[in-house]
Amino acid sequence: MTTIKQKKAESYVNNVIEQVKEKNPNQPEFYQAVQEMAHSLIPLFERVPHYMDYAILERMVEPDRMITFRVAWSDDDGVIHVNRGFRVQFNNAIGPYKGGLRFDPSVNESIVKFLGFDQIFKNALTDQAIGGGKGGSDFDPKGKSDMEIMRFTQSFMNELSKYIGPNVDVPAGDIGVGGREIDFMVGQYKRLRGAFEKGAFTGKGIDVGGSLMRTESTGYGAVYFAEQMLKHEESDVEGKKVIVSGAGKVSLYAMEKAVELGATVVACSDSSGYIFNEDGLDVSAIKQIKEEERKQISSYLDYDENATFHEEGRIWEVKCDLAFPCATQNELDEDDAKQLVENGVTAVVEGANMPCTEKAIQYLQNNDVRFGPGKAANAGGVAVSALEMAQNSSRVYWSFDEIDGMLKDIMADIYKKSASAAKEYDVEGDLISGANIAAFKKVADVMVAQGII
Ligand code: GLU
Repeated sequence: MTTIKQKKAESYVNNVIEQVKEKNPNQPEFYQAVQEMAHSLIPLFERVPHYMDYAILERMVEPDRMITFRVAWSDDDGVIHVNRGFRVQFNNAIGPYKGGLRFDPSVNESIVKFLGFDQIFKNALTDQAIGGGKGGSDFDPKGKSDMEIMRFTQSFMNELSKYIGPNVDVPAGDIGVGGREIDFMVGQYKRLRGAFEKGAFTGKGIDVGGSLMRTESTGYGAVYFAEQMLKHEESDVEGKKVIVSGAGKVSLYAMEKAVELGATVVACSDSSGYIFNEDGLDVSAIKQIKEEERKQISSYLDYDENATFHEEGRIWEVKCDLAFPCATQNELDEDDAKQLVENGVTAVVEGANMPCTEKAIQYLQNNDVRFGPGKAANAGGVAVSALEMAQNSSRVYWSFDEIDGMLKDIMADIYKKSASAAKEYDVEGDLISGANIAAFKKVADVMVAQGII
């Protein structure tokens, strides 16, 4: 039976969602992220109505500011190009804005805002003092020379430098932005500032002031999260057949850790197709192709004569026990979910940000597939970013093993918090709702304490 409190919470949430739709036309990804979060908060609002009185959700969906700017740069032939730069500073209730920069032609206001919004909650789950932000550009780094990347990045930083700093906003990498790009940014920022503020960025090269294990942390963290989920079912990653989409940092290190824990990774993909080997892929060869040679995944066949390359078809058609979508948003839809279920998948863990569509998630959950939501499962990257900030400000650096231990503890804690919030709010087993409620409460309580701002 629907109670009055429940009705009130539902209509409040629907109203906020409608307002977001009205005020942000043509931003489907942002709308999708808000909708997922808002719906899972109904049981919380029912029990703690003061969050509605304080208009916390309405305040959260409106970023503190959205910065857009022109990025003009010239290529190696002297041809001038103009791209658009973005930084959304969403919420700094619990710490400086923190989140990555994405360089990809698909980047627009909707993408940056969905990522920035989710980042608030992901960061809160890590229990580190970091707020939520995100940025990037519609610049396509594929096929560009090092010098072109440097000139673009310097031009990008000429504008972004006005808005960031170790206690203000701390960018990092995301799709298309790795150590090379971050180090160029550190260089240009230092020059513009006239000060050595390396804590203004994370994901730096080790000699530039980066942290050990930052590169591996998102992928390793996703597998640690999967271990926690499976432990609950008295199972583990060992002996499982795994598929991992994507061939960026997240995917490469998720595969590496899964293999280390005794799983067989049978397929992985990039934008050109997927590779498959029933007996397991050689992750070090894939790393070589992607990180050193920067080639398409099909060249893996040069290293493994028993593997096959599939240009047509989708990786989700490969039979597996565990699937890690680690490429990009909405890469796994309802049909893919059906295929996975038909093939007997037992758990799906999101290494990327919002890789599963709402319908795909619903289908998986309705068919008893354990689901690890990205906000929780891929928080390991930003968690180690916060550890990088801590090392930069204390000037004391930790070993790989020390950081690995901290990451394991953080991922176990995120799982525990999400699972117990789900239980407390009568949605036991639903880690999406649990993670959303736990994260929202953490930020909301601080916003209440800080007054109406
Ligand atoms: N881009 C990563 C994410 O989606 C990392 C952000 C960071 O380290 O600030 O969480």
